[in-house]
Amino acid sequence: MSTIGVLALQGDVREHVGALAAAGAAAVPVRRRAELDAVDALVLPGGESTTMSRLLETFELLEPVRARIAAGMPAYGSCAGLILLAREVRDGRPDQQQLGGLDVVVRRNAFGRQVDSFETDLDVVGIPGDPVHAVFIRAPWVEETGGGVEVLATAAGHAVAVRQGPVLGTSFHPELTGDGRVHALFVSMVRERVSS
Ligand code: GLN
Repeated sequence: MSTIGVLALQGDVREHVGALAAAGAAAVPVRRRAELDAVDALVLPGGESTTMSRLLETFELLEPVRARIAAGMPAYGSCAGLILLAREVRDGRPDQQQLGGLDVVVRRNAFGRQVDSFETDLDVVGIPGDPVHAVFIRAPWVEETGGGVEVLATAAGHAVAVRQGPVLGTSFHPELTGDGRVHALFVSMVRERVSS
């Protein structure tokens, strides 16, 4: 069985570990290089991308995570995690670092100019049935996407869920709602990759 790590430097780590376990995956927190080396995939939680970027450098994980993602490790980022996976961030801090993985440009705190947080129901490509109830908290949106990027959902005319190969990103926080279908989608992406 594949093991999915949750980057545990900051943010809502416990919620992601719980959601992955509910989706039938073995989920473990990752704080150290040896823990990263032992997982097949990585979730980057919601929190604060500038803080996580700094902690990735402090814990000497920035280059190792970048290298794993560049080598094809499946990754899923929610909110701050999506920001970390983006190629470029607008309205970020100048020293904030990117992990890559998604050929997208995101705008940080994009919805926050009007309202700090909101909830809405979204149709998400790859998730049949009822819409996904999505919680946005100081969320980014995706402003530009490269050719290999599939937009899975939009809100207020902006892309808020994207996939590029084995990498998934959402502006919202499915780990907070009890609807396990986004995590189940990621677990199936990991299984596809690990068994191929
Ligand atoms: N605004 C935060 C950031 O820039 C993201 C917020 C979140 O993850 N809920 O990282």
